[in-house]
Amino acid sequence: MPAACRSPPAIAGVITQNVDGLHGAAGSRRVLALHGDIFRVRCTREGTSREDRRAPLPEVPPRCACGALLRPDVVWFGEMLPGPDMDAAAAAARRAELFLSIGISALVYPAAGLAEVARDGGAYLAEINIEPTPLSPLVHEVIQGPAARVLPDLLGISIA
Ligand SMILES: [Zn+2]
Repeated sequence: MPAACRSPPAIAGVITQNVDGLHGAAGSRRVLALHGDIFRVRCTREGTSREDRRAPLPEVPPRCACGALLRPDVVWFGEMLPGPDMDAAAAAARRAELFLSIGISALVYPAAGLAEVARDGGAYLAEINIEPTPLSPLVHEVIQGPAARVLPDLLGISIA
């Protein structure tokens, strides 16, 4: 098929362990932030969460309208990952035709196991990282290098 007839690859989503919201700020859609979002707060009583970019905070510690303390809507050490987000990430990995593992250590489970879920579902796995990881022997292709250089090269774009 001539290159001009090809449609761009559909990106089903981005699964990230980052909490900084940068994927969304960069325009990525369907971002599953497994460890939460530092720009959201969660009521410690109700469990509800909402975006909160107030700075400085009007009161410290911040409180919900119900009076309970608010906390960052992120996963702290020792806490479980949010079940629905992890389930959605696993479902996306199972459906993937191509799964790119980019810039992760592949040491932190259960997120590190998503590549294996994708592989078991029949996806082609590629890893882009500056150094080998425990995932490297399990993927179809390892591309060693910084994502900031490798990804533009793969896409044939330049970033000034
Ligand atoms: Zn509340």
